[in-house]
Amino acid sequence: MLRTGSAVLYLAVITLGLKFPLLGILVFGILGVMVLAGQRKKWCSSYCPRGSFLDLLVSRISPRKPIPRWFFGKFSRYSALTIFIAIFLLQLWRGQFFFGWPDNGLIQLGKIFVRMCIISSGVAITLALWKNQRTWCSLCPAGNLLRRI
Ligand code: SF4
Repeated sequence: MLRTGSAVLYLAVITLGLKFPLLGILVFGILGVMVLAGQRKKWCSSYCPRGSFLDLLVSRISPRKPIPRWFFGKFSRYSALTIFIAIFLLQLWRGQFFFGWPDNGLIQLGKIFVRMCIISSGVAITLALWKNQRTWCSLCPAGNLLRRI
């Protein structure tokens, strides 16, 4: 039930998030609350909206092949993290966040989170169709940070 709700929330973010950007804030807010509540180790297996979406929906069309070992290597993980942070910072720059809190800052931040979700979902779904529904998780910057902090 929890995972189904989580998957539906994720579906809502990537389909309606640009119209309702606070959905993006909600997802990252939930992540923050779960980390503060000491649930970070269970995030990927139990709570993550994208993980639930990949397991419950995308797995039905994934070939479920083994994930290549090099996906778990440091080079792949750090490259993904670097690209992710670079895209995030670029969007903050474009949104004028480096010069103070802009007008409609929360809405703009929500749109940035939603765009990050949409872009990374494109990659996650492509990888799922190629190998395994959880291939993205081997590279996922959030998951890798959660496993290491
Ligand atoms: S690795 Fe990333 S996408 Fe996968 S379950 Fe964890 S936080 Fe979610």
